[in-house]
Amino acid sequence: MAEYFGTNAEAVFATMPERFIPEKVQDVDVTIGYDITGEGGGIWLVAIQAGTLKAEKIDSELPECSASIKTDAETFVGGSLGRIDLNAAMFAGKFKVKGDISVMTNILPKAFKKFSLAGEEQAEEFISIKAMPSINQRFATGAHMGQWFKGLMNKKFYAAKCPSCGRIQIPPREVCAECVVRSDDFVEVGPNGTVANMDIVYYASPDPLTGKVRSTPYVTLYLWMDGTTPGECLSFDLNPKDTNRIQRGMRVRPVWNEVRNAGIDDLLYFEIDD
Ligand SMILES: [Zn+2]
Repeated sequence: MAEYFGTNAEAVFATMPERFIPEKVQDVDVTIGYDITGEGGGIWLVAIQAGTLKAEKIDSELPECSASIKTDAETFVGGSLGRIDLNAAMFAGKFKVKGDISVMTNILPKAFKKFSLAGEEQAEEFISIKAMPSINQRFATGAHMGQWFKGLMNKKFYAAKCPSCGRIQIPPREVCAECVVRSDDFVEVGPNGTVANMDIVYYASPDPLTGKVRSTPYVTLYLWMDGTTPGECLSFDLNPKDTNRIQRGMRVRPVWNEVRNAGIDDLLYFEIDD
């Protein structure tokens, strides 16, 4: 018989009775068919009924089963040993399940101890837990971003002006990277601007602030705010109502949140100023 990973499909079924955990499947009544192709393959039928197990190789075609599995012997043995990722094999079309998929995901894992090579220590199973932690935290903005957010709360845009070249950066940055000097002077700019460019997004990644996927399409604008140095752009969202009308060169105005707390939500979006 052909061997894979030092064992074979026959051994997976032969060891089922000793790996079976009847107390975990007292209320289960399923038959699982295995159509295992390639060298060392065959047709097996496994029945679990009220805490009893019957696993047999049969000579006929698979009868009607709660679930049937079709795969090649190597994938079957590798998957049983945990050497082959069955999810990946499924994606690749090398491991097919017909019928009740919960037999694979819920019943089989609790009905049997993992198959392992004779003499090989049964490794401890990894447990994965999916959780979305929520952590109360405070974030120090520093003086420049602090000025920016304070401005938003008061419906104002502040930029930093370089004392050397006069460049006006928005949002304000601590250093003018061209002159390599601190730029600690703040000037008020805007509140309106001109659309220099835009991204129209049809495929949204999850929003880093909320984890939710935004509805599409949405538009991110690159704006020359009135009073800033050309080339220095502020990027922000466009009011969705203007998605189909927006063009380069258009004038836009900010739309503010009613409730403002010196945060990024203070500014909702820009919209066409007409
Ligand atoms: Zn400069």
